[in-house]
Amino acid sequence: MSEKIFIGVAWPYANGSLHLGQIAGANLPADIFARYHRTKGNEVLMVSGSDQHGTPTTIKAEQEGKTPQEIAGIYQKEFLDCWQKLGIAFDLYTTTGTKNHAEVAQDIFLKLLEKDFLYRKTVSQAYCPKCQRFLPDRYVEGTCPYCNTPGARGDQCDACGKLMDAPDLIEAHCRLCGTAPVYKDSEQFFLRLPAFRDRLLDWIKTRTHWRSNVLNFTTRLLEEGLIDRAFTRDIDWGVPVPVKGFENKRIYVWFEAVIGYLSASKQWAKEIAGNEDKWRTFWEDDVKSYYFIGKDNIIFHTVIWPAMLLGYGGLALPYDVPANEFLTIEGRKLSTSKNWAVWLPDYLSRYDPDPLRYHISINMPETSDTDFSWREFVRRNNDELVATYGNLVNRVLTFVYRNFDGCVPEYGELGEPDKNLMKKADDCLVQTGDLLSKCNFKQAIMTAMAAAHETNRYLDEKSPWKVIKEDRHSAANSLYVALYAISCLKTALYPFLPFSSQKVNEYLGFQGNVEEAGWKPNPPPPGQKLQEPKPLFTKLDESIIEEETRRIGT
Ligand SMILES: [Zn+2]
Ligand SMILES: [Zn+2]
Repeated sequence: MSEKIFIGVAWPYANGSLHLGQIAGANLPADIFARYHRTKGNEVLMVSGSDQHGTPTTIKAEQEGKTPQEIAGIYQKEFLDCWQKLGIAFDLYTTTGTKNHAEVAQDIFLKLLEKDFLYRKTVSQAYCPKCQRFLPDRYVEGTCPYCNTPGARGDQCDACGKLMDAPDLIEAHCRLCGTAPVYKDSEQFFLRLPAFRDRLLDWIKTRTHWRSNVLNFTTRLLEEGLIDRAFTRDIDWGVPVPVKGFENKRIYVWFEAVIGYLSASKQWAKEIAGNEDKWRTFWEDDVKSYYFIGKDNIIFHTVIWPAMLLGYGGLALPYDVPANEFLTIEGRKLSTSKNWAVWLPDYLSRYDPDPLRYHISINMPETSDTDFSWREFVRRNNDELVATYGNLVNRVLTFVYRNFDGCVPEYGELGEPDKNLMKKADDCLVQTGDLLSKCNFKQAIMTAMAAAHETNRYLDEKSPWKVIKEDRHSAANSLYVALYAISCLKTALYPFLPFSSQKVNEYLGFQGNVEEAGWKPNPPPPGQKLQEPKPLFTKLDESIIEEETRRIGT
């Protein structure tokens, strides 16, 4: 029985290039998970898109003298290019700027309003007397009243993660001109979040499979109690509020962006699946929905979006929200404003995708922050990817290709060590599959790499390169067993290293892609014609460590 797996991935703001923090936090784990389930034969829908609305895009547009649309268009194109080069295989990567998204967001708005989960209330709204405009949350800055850190924004404090309203800030000022804002009355719609608290508490008790950081954070939020949240804002860039008298207001981007998961599914059904109703398979039926996000985004996916789904009715709540911790860069907190980051387009212009996917996977910030350093990147590439796995594949395939007429050797009766290694290769697939299904990515890739080590040890003992001179049959046996193990490894490593696994698949003489062959050993049959192999990975010169480190922060 195939499972239905929905994978929602955090929506990046269309206001700047992608960086490794986003890749480690959400995109790479999501892609690994999707590739595993597709190979397993499950029905997968993985969607995301650019968050075009909200003030990050308008701030950027003002800085560059462009329109928000122009900014959003530039980054949408760049993001799509990055996904393709890094191998992040979305079923659809769209934007919140589509007509479809606006319609779906307005439909949810109206349904929540109809069910009385939204109500009107007059609030005082930050207004800059000098700029003569209402100030969106992110245009108000000040000191966080909870942790006293300066530079907190009117929507959230990055230092302690607390959500807030602009008037909560100490010494608030307009980020455009530095003037202290005044507050003017304005009518907004509010979401009755407390109305969902009991149902969310009951639901969260059934989420025992969640990562403890996500579960504890969410439980604490719910136990502390929820407050009503403004659902609309006085801005002109975003999805219009579909109510008379609210023409100058927009649906607040935080609520509107999470609706993107549903609107993207509907767009996918119409435009790609060719069946307008196909989205229902991933929202209404027996589906497991996973949301891959960074830890700063947990509340939206474990409280607010579930509340909206409960309010709307009939749509699946998240099955799991495997939020990752943060990736630090060279020992320091990543900061895009200080340019303390490794930018994805930069990386992809100089290096192959798989070494980065490998490094981030085996160093994934699943339960605590982890660090990216160029020294570790080069070391892992050279010592692990090239020396352990790449070298194993290359020496076996090259030797077989040259000594057995470019074909998989015929084998005879296998001994205990041979059967042992084959069993270990089978087990490796079972174990990595089990770990992947539980979103334990780091453990999964370590398990696969351990099997590569085992295979190297087996070959060191068997030494077919020497044995072939006196006993060709025995050498053929051990080389066949090594090919069997390599074939398992290319599947086990496929979710992490899709480009090199596909190459191995072709060197082994297979047509088609690894995914189609399924999550099983698939050994190449004796006699199958091989393709001439080339090295899978390139050794990196240590000089790049200094070169690349110097780029950061400058
Ligand atoms: Zn101002
Ligand atoms: Zn704070």
